[in-house]
Amino acid sequence: MAGIIDLRSDTVTQPTQVIRELMASAVTGDDVYGEDPTVNQLEQFAAQLLNKEAAIFCPSGTQSNLIGLLAHCGRGDEYIVGSAAHTYLYEGGGAAVLGSIQPQPLNLNTDATFDLQALESAIKPADIHYARTRLICLENTHNGRCLPQGYTSKVKAIADKYGLAMHLDGARLFNAVVSDNSTAAKLSEDFDSVSICLSKGLGAPVGSLLVGSEALINEARHWRKMLGGGMRQAGILAAAGLYALQHHVERLNDDHQRASQLGKALGNIDGVTLKFDKAFTNMVYVQVSAEMKASLDKLAPAHNVILPSGEQMRLVTHLDIDDEDIDTIVKLFEQAAQ
Ligand SMILES: *Cc1c(COP(=O)(O)O)cnc(C)c1O
Repeated sequence: MAGIIDLRSDTVTQPTQVIRELMASAVTGDDVYGEDPTVNQLEQFAAQLLNKEAAIFCPSGTQSNLIGLLAHCGRGDEYIVGSAAHTYLYEGGGAAVLGSIQPQPLNLNTDATFDLQALESAIKPADIHYARTRLICLENTHNGRCLPQGYTSKVKAIADKYGLAMHLDGARLFNAVVSDNSTAAKLSEDFDSVSICLSKGLGAPVGSLLVGSEALINEARHWRKMLGGGMRQAGILAAAGLYALQHHVERLNDDHQRASQLGKALGNIDGVTLKFDKAFTNMVYVQVSAEMKASLDKLAPAHNVILPSGEQMRLVTHLDIDDEDIDTIVKLFEQAAQ
């Protein structure tokens, strides 16, 4: 909404005028028949961008992760996943509930990596007592942090040793791409499947993609239909996603710049503790006292600011937050600290 500074997430962005116009004029067809030219164009574009064979457009990142897991694993199989990873923690246990896939959660280090020895020991031997370990799932970015360089290839070496597949929850992969000054293809190369969100920092209203081999994506099409994700004239949504992928990647740098600036300014305010010594990509984690949170909540509406709940807050910059808004947020925190 114009004038509102919503820091809760990068999912709150409103479609720009250009995106709304592209949606209104999108060429469409029935995508369940594979006949929506705009969806097909988006899927081809995403596959090329990540240097994979194929992609499938999904209504949400939760669904694209889930159909990825369903395409890799069967009943009684297991996937290894970070205990704080979105797929494990925030997706309703979908893999277990709907796929009969057992998650093996592992703690993540502060830099979002697994301890590689712990990872290797978590892989079950072939033995009738165990679930069959099939897949390792990583997340990039995780809590705004980019996976360290060289890490995914080390995990991939372990996966190869045991014949496991690799899935990446890349909901914010493009934040990592610009932050690392890398490419989506490079950051995806160690993975058999990658889920990307168009509806986060990229600013599309709806949509995610699962990207991988032709065979895997064909399998995914079956699961997407079963889950009720087969959409008809979805080109209306795909048009927005295609534009976002083509035009809103580089500008994520602006969000990162602003988060970094915001982190620095808030770190100088008495009563505000930064969880990390700097902002990673588009997220700033701060902690304030209960008293300060109460005064922030009281003052926020007058500044048109929406804050996350709680005294530990994740503040997220995005398409609808500009430089002036950063100044407003800092002023709000300064006032609340007095
Ligand atoms: C947002 C997000 C998803 C998917 O979320 P949806 O709201 O279902 O699109 C998956 N993984 C991570 C890390 C996310 O941040």
